[in-house]
Amino acid sequence: MIQKMVESMAQLQEEKLQLQEELLALQEKLSARENEELAVSVQLQDQVENLKEKLLDQAQEVNRLRSELGGTDLEKHRNLLVAENEHLKQDMKSCEAQLQKLKKQHVKCIDCEHIQENARLQERLAQLQLEVEEAKGRLSELDLEVQQKTNRLAEVELRLKDSLAEKAEEEERLSRRLRDSQETIASLKAQPQQIKYIIKTVEVESSKTKQALCETQSRNQHLQEQVEMQRQVLKEMEQQLQKSQKIAAQLRAQIMLYESELEQAHGQMLEEMQNMEDDKNRAIEEAFARAQVEMKAVHENLAGVRTNLLTLQPALRTLTNDYNSLKRQVRDFPLLLQEALQDARAEIGQAIEEVNSTNRELLKKYRRELQLRKKCHNELVRLKGNIRVFGRVRPITKEDGEGPEAANSVTFDPDDDAILHLMHKGKQVSFELDKVFSPQATQQDVFQEVQALITSCIDGYNVCIFAYGQTGAGKTYTMEGTPENPGINQRALQLLFSEVQRKASDWGYTITVSVAEIYNEALRDLLGEPQEKLDIKLCPDGSGQLYVPGLTEFQVQSVDDINKVFEFGHSNRVTEYTSLNEHSSRSHALLIVTVRGLDYSTGLRTTGKLNLVDLAGSERVGRSGAEGSRLREAQYINKSLSALGDVIYALRARQGHVPFRNSKLTYLLQDSLSGDSKTLMMVQVSPVEKNTSETLCSLKFAERVRSVELGPVSRRAELVSWSSQEHLENDSPVAAQPSIRSHSSPRPTRRAGSFRRKLQTSGKLRPVPV
Ligand code: ADP
Ligand code: MG
Repeated sequence: MIQKMVESMAQLQEEKLQLQEELLALQEKLSARENEELAVSVQLQDQVENLKEKLLDQAQEVNRLRSELGGTDLEKHRNLLVAENEHLKQDMKSCEAQLQKLKKQHVKCIDCEHIQENARLQERLAQLQLEVEEAKGRLSELDLEVQQKTNRLAEVELRLKDSLAEKAEEEERLSRRLRDSQETIASLKAQPQQIKYIIKTVEVESSKTKQALCETQSRNQHLQEQVEMQRQVLKEMEQQLQKSQKIAAQLRAQIMLYESELEQAHGQMLEEMQNMEDDKNRAIEEAFARAQVEMKAVHENLAGVRTNLLTLQPALRTLTNDYNSLKRQVRDFPLLLQEALQDARAEIGQAIEEVNSTNRELLKKYRRELQLRKKCHNELVRLKGNIRVFGRVRPITKEDGEGPEAANSVTFDPDDDAILHLMHKGKQVSFELDKVFSPQATQQDVFQEVQALITSCIDGYNVCIFAYGQTGAGKTYTMEGTPENPGINQRALQLLFSEVQRKASDWGYTITVSVAEIYNEALRDLLGEPQEKLDIKLCPDGSGQLYVPGLTEFQVQSVDDINKVFEFGHSNRVTEYTSLNEHSSRSHALLIVTVRGLDYSTGLRTTGKLNLVDLAGSERVGRSGAEGSRLREAQYINKSLSALGDVIYALRARQGHVPFRNSKLTYLLQDSLSGDSKTLMMVQVSPVEKNTSETLCSLKFAERVRSVELGPVSRRAELVSWSSQEHLENDSPVAAQPSIRSHSSPRPTRRAGSFRRKLQTSGKLRPVPV
């Protein structure tokens, strides 16, 4: 039994081992199957992924195709074409407007603008045609593109069909494999009955084997669960496959839809393009027709212009003729110019001749005018009176002292510069002179009034300016002045110099001066030998003219010369007398200026003499009980001053006898006081109370002199021989007189001995040849 038991055990052991081996083999098979299933499921999953991807690709392809062939692009293109069409239409419109405008203009104008416009239009037409060609090209391109895209769509469809077929095949394959594996699983399921049976038998034999069996069963269970799961996954996958098949069918339907839409759009597009082309062709035809019409009009214009040109041709011919004749004239111009120049020269010569004769005439007239002017001047002077009396009141000085005696007694009329009032012994006495200078009047103010008189000696008049008044009344100040503020003497000579200079182009002048004094009725030459008494003599020629033999004459040309002369004269006075002031108040100081002139153009010679006399003091000395030489001096002074008064009075009264000979002064100045001479008496007065009686006397003398009239003024000038036959009409009665004495006066030197020259006392000259 045991043997049997051992045998059965051994058998069981063998069976067990066999079973274990079988189990192992099954396990291996199972794991292999598992692996296979895993691989199959992985493969299936991959395939599903691939299919998904393909689906995605196809969807994308469909999208791409949609975007490529889709409505957007077509619409865009259509819009582009529509815009182009619009643009073309606008162009056409503008062409039409231009044509319209041209038509309007055509009515207005017929010139080359139309041709230009036409050319422009033709150009535009050509451009439009080109554009149309381009559009056509583009259209055909688009057609080609559409064709290509349709081809591609067909390709894609084919590919889609292929992929669907592939998918179907794959599905087929998969379902086949699924069936195989299901069969395998079913066969495997059928086997465990046997194993269970063995396990049951083993369980009886060994707990260990039982445990191992249990484990194997649980593992089997687990495997079955896994197979179940796999099955489920497979189911899901099948479902997914179905879904994707559905989607693919949907997509196919959509593609079909799109294709139909595409076809529709393509048809529409073709239709629109056809329409557009028709429109374009119509517009082009219209534009062409219009352009032709316009061209015709332009041609007509051109014809008009041609006819115009034909009419212009004769005008051009005449212009050419004119031009040729002008050319001839230009060629002949130098000759003509020469002739004209000759004529002009002759005319100018004639004109110059005429001007010359006119000039001669004018010169004649000028000379007459000169005479007339002189006559007028003389008349004016005569009307004014040729003795003029001015009064000058010096300012109150320190020498006048203080107190009532030095009080002012002279007042003026603010409205009349010829009136002067003097308070004398409580009474106001008024005097009327030609002009009164107040103490404020300057040397220049005084000179301003006398300068006309001075310049008249340049014209050949004799002039006398006397400074009359008591000692200390300002006679010397007025005549000589101070170095800083010179008086009439220096200013007169300065004026003469400048006047002579101004007339230098027409006149030649020489100015000479003599300085003399009359003291105690003795005439002394202050530029020669002062101690020598000079005589005043009648000319030996019996002309009745006077002259001073031995009186020195200096020719002066500048202020320097004058200053030297004055200095020399003063030094001569100073050497002889100790007190110049004292002496000067008792003698008459004379500055005799002789101006000799020659008019270069007329040959007229003139001589004028300016006598500037600083008279001795007019105060009456007798009353103060002077004696000896002082008394004699006073007597001489009184005599000479009253002789001057008498002479002037006699002249005024036009008495037959004028007592010139009563004093040396009047005798010497005879020529300068009578006839056409001019005299100015500057009556100097002191303004202070203590001098009022002397002031009164001076002013009375002034009034007396002022009322005297001299004879008619005549110029001491004569015309000398004329180079031509013309002679100036000289209406001066004096100038016509013969027997006039003249002295030649060579320029003296500074040497005292040779200074002496005869003073020409007569201004009347005999005609001297030029
Ligand atoms: P006369 O020569 O009449 O004797 P002066 O010419 O010598 O008198 O003058 C006497 C004084 O009065 C001098 O000192 C002089 O400078 C002064 N004098 C005279 N007149 C003027 C004047 N207008 N302005 C300033 N000072 C004057
Ligand atoms: Mg004096």
